[in-house]
Amino acid sequence: MVKSAFQDLYRELPSLDALLQSPGLGDLVATYGRIAVADAGRAVLARLRAEIAAGSLDASAIELALPHLPQAVDTELRRALGLSLRPVINATGVILHTNLGRAPLAADTLAHVRDISTSYSNLEFDLSTGQRGKRDVHVDRLFRRLFSTEEVKSETTTIVVNNNAAAVLLALNTLAEGGEVIVSRGELVEIGGSFRIPDVMQKSQATLREVGTTNRTRIADYERAINASTRLLLRVHRSNFAISGFTEQPTLQELNALAREKNIPLMEDLGSGALFDLREIGVSGESGVRESLRLGVDVVTYSGDKLLGGPQAGLITGHPTLVQRMRTNSLFRALRADKMTYAVLENTLLAYIKQDYNSLPALRMMHLTRDEISARAGALVAGLHNPALRAELKLAESVIGGGSAPSAVLPTTVIALTSSIHSADKLSTRLRNSAIPIIARVEEAQVLLDLRTVFPEQDQQVSTTLNSLT
Ligand SMILES: *Cc1c(COP(=O)(O)O)cnc(C)c1O
Repeated sequence: MVKSAFQDLYRELPSLDALLQSPGLGDLVATYGRIAVADAGRAVLARLRAEIAAGSLDASAIELALPHLPQAVDTELRRALGLSLRPVINATGVILHTNLGRAPLAADTLAHVRDISTSYSNLEFDLSTGQRGKRDVHVDRLFRRLFSTEEVKSETTTIVVNNNAAAVLLALNTLAEGGEVIVSRGELVEIGGSFRIPDVMQKSQATLREVGTTNRTRIADYERAINASTRLLLRVHRSNFAISGFTEQPTLQELNALAREKNIPLMEDLGSGALFDLREIGVSGESGVRESLRLGVDVVTYSGDKLLGGPQAGLITGHPTLVQRMRTNSLFRALRADKMTYAVLENTLLAYIKQDYNSLPALRMMHLTRDEISARAGALVAGLHNPALRAELKLAESVIGGGSAPSAVLPTTVIALTSSIHSADKLSTRLRNSAIPIIARVEEAQVLLDLRTVFPEQDQQVSTTLNSLT
């Protein structure tokens, strides 16, 4: 076709203004606003012009398409302005899955978030004096209760920042800017997504002083490294890897004794930071926040959305004078958490105080037994009638995740799926692309569904999706 022929075809298309006058578009303008509807109209017309230029639309095809343009604009608007964040079903068995949003929140905490965030609140206002207040008081009182136990003798204060990376940055900058921080070489970890201790150290304007070797560090190594510039002894939880074999690491008791002797603060970046005893779920060798405080650590940093099972936040608990210095650091203002985080945190901590662990979804999932999961998996498999799918139950392990404890796994039963039509990868892609995406694990040419991380009320949805897969 020659150029002038294209020109004739282009003329068959309405102008943007004419398109926007079409019946039905008025409703779209009321819903989406004039600018968004015009953008969608422009996109629809541009697509048609591209098809004409590619020679794939002739005059009769255009004539057929014209009455459907308002519908095309509607579809374009839904595509462009649909919500991008969507709920998914986590069938991976990784409870604190960073890519899937870590800890799911308890539904009943949301009423409090709604009340606080859709209204004015006493976030930084002291209702008894009518004066300016501090946002930390709302949760510090609860943390104090949780930590003022027989074992933890000293008083503690807790402040909240955006996440644990921010907590480490703030703590290091406050306690060690311009000075040295002693860390074992075996603890210079990278936590997924570019959090590296040496980099954070540099940003905090403190100098890293590495001691020991990757597998062995002794208390004498720390002692020898101490000099007039030493500001802090730092222990970092290894989170996502374990060193086994010929290893040695001083105990917190030894580090604490050295810190007291030399009068240098001791900080621990716990990462996950549990507020409950992990031995309850059969995980040993992991100490929680209370244990670190009991052993004399001056400052502990941990995440709100890992083992704590709450909102994204970084928590700094420790000696009141040290924490007070962090709170007056101007970085604190840049890193602070918002009112919604405080509202969720308040409810999460109340659940711990009431020992109502079941109300926190991540904790509830950790406490599920293999028998409970097997029973649900068995019922789900019994309800499958898709002739293309073969499903069997297999013993496997769920992972706590979130860098909690590298070897912390929980016994589970998974549904292992094979398809007579698709490869395992293809099958998992189809599950991921279903109306409510189901995220599964692929292992040894099978798709594994671990119901530990699926809410029981979602089992039916999983079953329906599997039965309708083609
Ligand atoms: C997870 C983790 C961090 C980072 O915490 P975020 O809350 O993800 O910012 C830092 N240190 C350790 C040891 C961790 O495990």
